[in-house]
Amino acid sequence: MSFFIKSFATNSSVSTPREATIAMMQTSSYRVLSHRNCSSFRKTASINAFQFRGSSSAKVFSFLNVRHCSTYSGDEVCSSSKRRSRGPLMAAKKASEGEKQEEGKYKHTVDLPKTTFGMRANALVREPEIQKLWDDHQVFKRVADKNDGGNFVLHDGPPYANGNLHMGHALNKILKDIINRYKLLQNYKVHYVPGWDFLQSLDQNAKKDLTPSKLRAKAAKFAKATVKDQMASFKLCVYTGTLWIWADWDNPYLTLDPEYEAAQIEVFGQMALQGYIYRGKKPVHWSPSSRTALAEAELEYPEGHVSRSIYAVFRMLSAPPATDGLLKDFFPDLCLAIWTTTPWTVPANAAVAVNAKLQYAVVEVQSLEGDSIISENKRRRVGNVLKEQKKLFIIVASDLVPKLEAKWGSKLVVKKTLLGSDLENCRYFHPIDNRECPVVIGGDYITTESGTGLVHTAPGHGQEDYATGLKYGLPLLSPVDDDGKFTEEAGQFNGLHVLGDGNGAVVKYLDEHMSIIMEESYEHKYPYDWRTKKPTIFRATEQWFASVEGFRQAAMDAIGHVKWFPPQAVNRISAMTSSRSDWCISRQRTWGVPIPVFYHVKSREPLMNEETIDHIKSIISQKGSDAWWYMKVEDLLPEKYHGKASDYEKGTDTMDVWFDSGSSWAAVLGKRNGLSFPADLYLEGTDQHRGWFQSSLLTSIATKGKPPYSSVITHGFVLDEKGCKMSKSLGNVVDPRTVIEGGKNQKEVPGYGADVLRLWVSSVDYTGDVMIGPQVLRQISDIYRKLRGTLRYLLSNLHDWKVGNSVSHNDLPKIDQYALFQLENVVKNIQESYENYQFFKIFQLIILRGTTSFTRRSCQTVLSAHLLAIVRVVAPILPHLAEDAWQNLPFQYTLEDSSKVEFVFESKWPVVNEKCLAFPTEEVDFWGKILELRTEVNKVLEVARTGKLIGSSLEARVYLHTADASMASKLHEICAAKNDADTLQRIFITSQVEVLPSMDNELINKIPYSGEYLFQGMNKVWIGVSHAEGSKCKRCWNYSSQVGSFAEHPTLCSRCYNVIAVQPLPAMAAIS
Ligand SMILES: [Zn+2]
Repeated sequence: MSFFIKSFATNSSVSTPREATIAMMQTSSYRVLSHRNCSSFRKTASINAFQFRGSSSAKVFSFLNVRHCSTYSGDEVCSSSKRRSRGPLMAAKKASEGEKQEEGKYKHTVDLPKTTFGMRANALVREPEIQKLWDDHQVFKRVADKNDGGNFVLHDGPPYANGNLHMGHALNKILKDIINRYKLLQNYKVHYVPGWDFLQSLDQNAKKDLTPSKLRAKAAKFAKATVKDQMASFKLCVYTGTLWIWADWDNPYLTLDPEYEAAQIEVFGQMALQGYIYRGKKPVHWSPSSRTALAEAELEYPEGHVSRSIYAVFRMLSAPPATDGLLKDFFPDLCLAIWTTTPWTVPANAAVAVNAKLQYAVVEVQSLEGDSIISENKRRRVGNVLKEQKKLFIIVASDLVPKLEAKWGSKLVVKKTLLGSDLENCRYFHPIDNRECPVVIGGDYITTESGTGLVHTAPGHGQEDYATGLKYGLPLLSPVDDDGKFTEEAGQFNGLHVLGDGNGAVVKYLDEHMSIIMEESYEHKYPYDWRTKKPTIFRATEQWFASVEGFRQAAMDAIGHVKWFPPQAVNRISAMTSSRSDWCISRQRTWGVPIPVFYHVKSREPLMNEETIDHIKSIISQKGSDAWWYMKVEDLLPEKYHGKASDYEKGTDTMDVWFDSGSSWAAVLGKRNGLSFPADLYLEGTDQHRGWFQSSLLTSIATKGKPPYSSVITHGFVLDEKGCKMSKSLGNVVDPRTVIEGGKNQKEVPGYGADVLRLWVSSVDYTGDVMIGPQVLRQISDIYRKLRGTLRYLLSNLHDWKVGNSVSHNDLPKIDQYALFQLENVVKNIQESYENYQFFKIFQLIILRGTTSFTRRSCQTVLSAHLLAIVRVVAPILPHLAEDAWQNLPFQYTLEDSSKVEFVFESKWPVVNEKCLAFPTEEVDFWGKILELRTEVNKVLEVARTGKLIGSSLEARVYLHTADASMASKLHEICAAKNDADTLQRIFITSQVEVLPSMDNELINKIPYSGEYLFQGMNKVWIGVSHAEGSKCKRCWNYSSQVGSFAEHPTLCSRCYNVIAVQPLPAMAAIS
């Protein structure tokens, strides 16, 4: 025994005794088979190595089947290290000296499996070696160049990769890489150009007192330095480092490149010339802290924002004749009650809006006795008007009366009800400057969910207000400057900050003038500037807009033609596109790409046409956008305007960063050789529905009339294994580099290698948020090791195989045909899952469920089919493992055109084998049942093993009985199958199987262990297990009553005897 282990280990780099034992058991039966066969195709010794194997070796197949592995309690192959060593130890204990010698005697009659493919991944050494191999041979380029199945373009984006590589980046890049590698195997010319956006900006202090040119220089320097750092970090890990994502890293696209900027100007120009770009005064999100307009995608809504909300009353002046009769009794004590969370917008009030369809009530407010009615506190304060003992009638939505009574601590007595439409054109006094203002009909945005059902309307400070204002020709007041301070137009509030003392001053003024019923702290979602983390305001300014209205329908139609993964993403992007207002694309910043416009010095009329835009585009394509700032107006204008240059000045606005990144399709797909528009795929985080996916869609629809992508995939965020957000303060951050390379203490934080991280990516449903942590990684690493073990097993058992050795399909045992049928189906399903980007299904198929048909001994033809299929279908997910296996293939694999395949990614996706798929349905059914039956037999064997009746399953004899006549006859049939591999004892890995004709047999009582297999829900097979008859053959370990009947070889069974008889023992055998 020891000799075996030693020699095996030396010859084939197998390191653990456990594995050596498996290998020995497998091989000890090897030649037996090759000679015992009656079928003609088994003449070659090298085929059919695995017909006969010790029970423990058969369980090697459970590597492919983790589920089974855990249910086989006696299965030493299972991962626990205790188990790993138990097998050989026990075997060694049991084996007497004599047995050892007997076994050793026949050693040379078997072939030892061997392979150079290591059992241990040794990822930290091996993965970089494989990466170097790919790099040295430029495999990515080579395969992409050679493939002739058309283009596949995954367009990288978007931008704003802040900070160093984190798990979110790794998830994103690995998903992209899995897809690209799959498409390579599918014979596509894969193009993947990584992109970098220069979004980094200087903070306020760094910007102080700089001229635009100096500021731009400083900002560019800062951005380049930041991006250089990022790129270094990314490249180190992603490319040259251990993650190794395949991409054109030497030629990334940078949004700062002059060619990129020129392409962006071109997109802008095309939109302008089509009439989609206009200048207008509209309320936009404005960030006082960075003094610029912001797009929706530049906002965030942090938890915990609290506003000062007020219930205010505006005194009514008159009602139109039709309504006067309804209201005249209540004048002059009649007021409109409104509610707002932004009291600072009251100076800009231009109307009160109602919903025409809602019912409103005139109520008399009767303050209840005493101040104790409602508790005044920090949250809530009653206004002076309620404290005053004067008659007060107010109008509120009828539905809200009870709620407001409770809130205000007042009795509201309904005096009259009327419809919202009745209130249109009533007039009221502006509460601050006594202007006369109208009541107007607003839209469905006016509800009775909160407030009073009447909406304070300031068209200069809100989108809906603006729309209502347009309808009624209301004034667009916005008495707030860039810093967020009231202007002179706001009178007494001039100079106060609207988000600070200005807001307080307005509240105070209103209360002093009997206009406030109640003030209340109100916590709600409020937009903050994503850069400065400070609150923003809505403010009407002169800006440049892209008219989404002008091409919204085209965009909505296009969305329907794009494939969205997951499918429900279409709802998100549709909702966001259908509801978005015109896109404010100008920013008041001096870095970024300029809006290429000149203004007439006197009339302020903008100058922007095809000639001016083309001219600027050509300048920027050569000199970059800095030229806009350092060149004179005369030089920036085309020649024909030179005489009038002094009449014009340059615009100072730049474009929204989402317009920058949203033009990437034009700058990259349209401009680079080999790429094509639209891209086949965009793949980013789910937050990009309102960001890059949308801005790209809008620019592309406006200029090309079609979307920039055919498919879009979104993924969720990465959380820790408890489902919490990762944060430094919680200490739960999982760093991808640490996962791959390990921590300082490799024992505590081992380096798993890139493939384990990739396997994790494949295991999660990335369409939602995904979880990772030490526990998850340990499990994934276990599964990886099992898969590696399977590949190693296959490789080592094919060491002497050649493609020419393949057995023709019809000559294969039925159970092997069944195995191949299952394999083909698994490959088909895996392909389908790749096509639908559902990698977790692949993970389940290949890793968890395994190719279950393959959980048995098969001939080399079947093993090689499995090896070639498994290696290739896992290659996109586990490229290092697959390549490692491929580099250790014991045979040469060639394509149909007889070209040699040196690297796994040259091997192409497995071609469907129609022959294998044509396995008849009834056979599929039957063999499926046999495998189920085997599972049940295994359970009984397990009980017998626990009861110490048997050790190895080869020590067992199995009895079967069924009352189902057709099943019984089929069982009989395969007991006596012509083809040994199809016989039941081989399938069960027992020495003997007997089908009993009936149950009323004395024998039954003597059978110590039994169980049942139910098939089709009602029919059953009775299973019995007793000890096998006869003695153990020292060569194949099967029990046979013939052992002892051959004088020369008293320890062999008849089959082994037949082998040995034709192959005399050489003298050297005696040495062992
Ligand atoms: Zn034998």
